[in-house]
Amino acid sequence: QLWQLDHDHFLHPWTHHDSFGKNGSLIMVEGSGAYIVDSNGKRYLDGIGGLWCVNVGYGRQELIDAMTDQARRLSFSNTFVDMTNVPATRLAAKLAELAPGSLEHVMFSTSGSSAIDTAVRLAHYYHSRRGEKQRRHVISRRNSYHGSTFLGISVGLRDGDRTPHFQYLSDFIHHLSAPYPYRRPAGLSESQFTDYLADEFEAKIAELGAGNIAAFVAEPIQGSGGVVVPPPGYLQRMREITRRHGILFIADEVVTAFGRIGHWFASQSEFGIEPDIINCAKGLTSGYLPLAATIYSAAIHEVIGAPDPDAWFAHGFTYCGHPVCCAVALANIELIERDQLLDNARKVGDHFEARLKELESLPLVGQVRGKRMMMCVEYVADKASKAQLPDSLNISKRISDVCEANGLLVRPVGHLDILSPPLIITIAEADFIVDTLGNAIEEVSRGLGAPAR
Ligand code: PLP
Repeated sequence: QLWQLDHDHFLHPWTHHDSFGKNGSLIMVEGSGAYIVDSNGKRYLDGIGGLWCVNVGYGRQELIDAMTDQARRLSFSNTFVDMTNVPATRLAAKLAELAPGSLEHVMFSTSGSSAIDTAVRLAHYYHSRRGEKQRRHVISRRNSYHGSTFLGISVGLRDGDRTPHFQYLSDFIHHLSAPYPYRRPAGLSESQFTDYLADEFEAKIAELGAGNIAAFVAEPIQGSGGVVVPPPGYLQRMREITRRHGILFIADEVVTAFGRIGHWFASQSEFGIEPDIINCAKGLTSGYLPLAATIYSAAIHEVIGAPDPDAWFAHGFTYCGHPVCCAVALANIELIERDQLLDNARKVGDHFEARLKELESLPLVGQVRGKRMMMCVEYVADKASKAQLPDSLNISKRISDVCEANGLLVRPVGHLDILSPPLIITIAEADFIVDTLGNAIEEVSRGLGAPAR
């Protein structure tokens, strides 16, 4: 009955109506730790971590208590203009403490998508307040995903996302090549590829005029665009270029922050850069409630916070700094600290990464890549040429279906299966993920009449 109600009434995000019409939904009913249970009572290890968000695992009492306590005390208070609440204030200060360098001011919203809208609008406002209103262009990269609002989907650019049936903003948004070493132009070493990408950025700046560009937007590791880890030195080069041209660097850490690759924030701890603005969401509350934060520098605040009777930061949402969401985020951060989950993400994540790499010996696997708890497997028809399998084969979905039958959820996206388990998994659970996925790849290979090993 539930299946039918869902089928009849719920328009799912990113739905493909052809397959949804036939199969409907898998209904989930319970979760505990790293495991989730469907309406038939089947239990899965959640290798997706919800949607890269359930970092501390399901059913954590500390988060449930924080949520109920705060809802009982004060379930809502608006934060417009000059009103605030205790959890939002405490969380803003905590994020200022955890974020790198001078990033010490925070605007809250409710999703990664609303955070990118906030960051881009903040960049426009900042430049305008500095007397550079013409700085309106935004430069992003191919294979990026920055959400699904009109602005977010237009800033991002993954091949499958652009359908002719929707509209996209294009007059002020531009896309550079993805820093995708596995599919870099033939004949370039990784360091030459970094040079190539930096030159491409400089050429785009010259074309648009540096004085017309507001911001460069980048996920430190591109997530749903293919878990693309950039070549060495790339992010530092891009940072140096943005600084030299007065362009704001917006790091979209919606996936990479809060432990996914073993740090609070990846920009500085993993890649050695301090952006002007960092967006985070997902792991900020471990997905218990919707919340995002746009954390920005003291230098930006100095400009936008300067008193001017005619200037008004005319942006914000009803649920900015929602007290219950912020209370959950504070409890989530406390739990990550208390249970040393960043250490676990590093220790188990290093093991997971190394073991997954073993799957590169399978004929269908072109590359295993990523970092710690943010990994993917890319399937190819031919390892040498890296030729892709036909889309009609639906390879990643076939393999994820076998995993699902064997009690493991992985996320099929294009020619990849993505893995982003909760940070609490043990070495044995990491091994289960690798072994189950490896067996599924072999089983599907055999079904295709291809060599399994
Ligand atoms: N930015 C990145 C890097 C993401 O991966 C996502 C979602 O996966 C978003 C933004 C959008 O977040 P939301 O779905 O919460 O709007």
